[in-house]
This record gives sequence, structure tokens and C-alpha cells, in this order.
Amino acid sequence: MPGFEIFGDEERKEVNDVLSTGVLFRYGFDAARNGHWKAKTFEKELCERTGAGFALLCSSGTAALSVAMAACGVGAGDEVIIPPFTFVASFEAVLNAGAIPVFAEIDETLCLDPEAVEKAITPRTKAVMPVHMCGSMAQIDALKELCDRKGLVLLEDACQSIGATFGGKSLGRFGKAGCFSFDPVKTITCGEGGGMITDDRDCYVKADAYADHGHDHIGNDRGKEDHIVLGANYRISELNAAVGVAQLRKLDHILAVQRANKNAIKSAMAEFTKISFRHIPDPAGDSATFLSFFLPDEAQTRQAAKDLADAGVDGCFYWYANNWHYIRQWHHLKKMVAAARVPASLADNFPDYSTVDMPRSDTIMSRCISMQIKLSWSPDQLADRIEKIRTLFSK
Ligand SMILES: *Cc1c(COP(=O)(O)O)cnc(C)c1O
Repeated sequence: MPGFEIFGDEERKEVNDVLSTGVLFRYGFDAARNGHWKAKTFEKELCERTGAGFALLCSSGTAALSVAMAACGVGAGDEVIIPPFTFVASFEAVLNAGAIPVFAEIDETLCLDPEAVEKAITPRTKAVMPVHMCGSMAQIDALKELCDRKGLVLLEDACQSIGATFGGKSLGRFGKAGCFSFDPVKTITCGEGGGMITDDRDCYVKADAYADHGHDHIGNDRGKEDHIVLGANYRISELNAAVGVAQLRKLDHILAVQRANKNAIKSAMAEFTKISFRHIPDPAGDSATFLSFFLPDEAQTRQAAKDLADAGVDGCFYWYANNWHYIRQWHHLKKMVAAARVPASLADNFPDYSTVDMPRSDTIMSRCISMQIKLSWSPDQLADRIEKIRTLFSK
């Protein structure tokens, strides 16, 4: 990861197809586009790749999550259970829907703990949104069983985990809908983009309309199309989709390189008894974008993160102290600093986020470092990295 490391002639060709026609819009202009339908092609290939019945490409992962919320009927006053370790976009999408983020603890998968989710359910809970962080998975089978038993919508934020599977099935396909991000630092990129997949036709039809001002996309005359729901604009452009078409076709190659690189580093680190690894419910389905590991306590972990950086082992993230991926530093959420006023009736429903306490997640995240696995490492660079890691942890 990420896909931009291997941006090349394939991406340039797809973009040039679009530039040569001048049709940057994903809908219509049938004659002028000379057979090039990049967004549609991406959606078709994403369905083939994931096995999903339907796919909708959007302008970002955040957009895809917002579209999925609407299409799954999540809205004003509904509670959505999410983890405290994720990118801020996850709770932004919940808030944008007028719904209420409710936090539940993570487990050593670094994702939502099914037992903690069950305890967080209230009569207002509408949906559970696990976030498959850092290329690997939550205990998605247990979460699915729980949602089915309780009649809750399961919506997967798989923005960081395209290509990852559980029991051979693509992440994003366990719930009613699943979302991916194709932003510039994700496994594959459109420049900016995101996608929603679902097996539910009604969910897809609503999402497809909601993301394009309510257009039903029936017939071939935009002006005459009906508006089946109130919507917004979360569309992708053909230029962004074109980059993604080329990137999606490289996904197998990306996964193979990441898995090999990760395995090499992980087996070297396994020698050290003070290091343990993130629990991965199905190791064969790990997309291997990161190697996440634990040290015995917070002090040793902070020291190791510093030592790794000092030794030039770059790309090691200590999320616990990071502004964007863990609840501790989400001061804007804790104070509910909104650019526009939240309707008072909704604001009354929000819990006081400044007092949300996640002791188990703190214990896990304060001991965790995630090392980004690069595609572009040469064999020498990989060997050098492993040597530095060995030296550092054998001290
Ligand atoms: C990147 C990301 C998003 C949002 O994707 P964008 O395309 O950047 O809007 C959502 N959730 C998670 C977990 C992410 O990592």
C-alpha cells in the first residue's frame, strides 16, 4: 500500500481514453464517449472482484458511507455503534445522516468487539458499523450473527481493506452494505473516490439515486428521468474512475507483494517474545497493508515507536497519540464543534462525548504500533529494514 506507488502507463492510458473524448461525466453522452464508460466498468469489475450483486462508485469513501447510511434507512435520531479506533470519516458519515455515533470497545482484532457491541445496544440502535482497520478484519461472523439476532443493520466500513476476505468472502459483503475508499493513500486509488457494494437491489437503487440528486437513471434522457428520492451529489467523475479501473486490475499484484513483504518482517519479529501480533480472525484473508503488533506496556511501546523512527524504519504509526485515528484526540467531536448548527432536537440526543470512556481500547491501542507495508521496497531495502528491526528489539 498504497496504490499510488505503482501509478504507471496503465493509469495514463485509461485517463487518456477519457481525455480523448472530453466526456468527463459518468452518465449519458453516449455517442461522444466513444465506448468509454469508466465508472460503469469499475463498478462491473468491483462486483466481479468482490462477488457483490451491485456496486456504486462515489466521490470519496466518506461519500460512499453517507450514501450507504441513506440507502440503509439510517437517519435522524438513530444510534449507530462504531469503534473508537477508525478514521474520523466514520463518525462524520453518521453525523451527516443526522444519526448518533455510539462508541463500543475494540478487541485485539483492533476492530469492534462483538460482546461490547451487544452491551451498547439500546432501543434506539439502528445499525452497527464495524471498521475493518489497517487491511484486516473484525470478527465479522460474530457481528453478523448479532445484527441478525437483534434486527440491526450491519454496515461495514471496509475503506482500508479492499482485497481482504473472511472465509473467502470479500469484506463489505457481510452486512447490508459495505464501503471502500479509493483516496490517494488507500490500497488502490482513484485520486479521490469511494465505492459502496451491496447484494440488496432496493439498497442499491436508493443509493444510486441518492448519490445523484435522486435521478432514477431509467431511460436515456436525464431531463426526463424521475426523482425517486431526495438526494445530493456524491458522484465520481470519469477521470477519477479511469484511474481506479487501472488500479483495480493491479489489486492481485498489490496483495501478493504486500503479503510477501509482511510475512518476511513478521517472521523476523516473531523471534522476540515481548512482541505479540494483532489477532487476525482469518489470516488467509489479510490484505497485509499493515503489520500491527503489541508491546507489553505503553512506555515500551512509545519508546519502540521513537526508536523505530530514529533508526529510519519509517511508516510506523502509534495511533494512540495520533490526531485522526483514535478517540483520545478527537477534541472537535468531544466538544461537538459544528461548522453549522446541529438541529436542537438532535443535539439533545447526543451523548456527552467528552466523557466517553474506553478503558479496554486504551489498553490495546496504547500498546499497538502499525507498520505500513510498502510495495516499492527493493529486496535490499526490505533486508535492511529487517536487520534494523532485529537490532532494535534484541536490545
Ligand atoms: C479513508 C477512510 C475513510 C474515508 O475515505 P475518503 O475516501 O478519504 O473519504 C473512511 N473510513 C476509514 C476507516 C478510512 O480509512
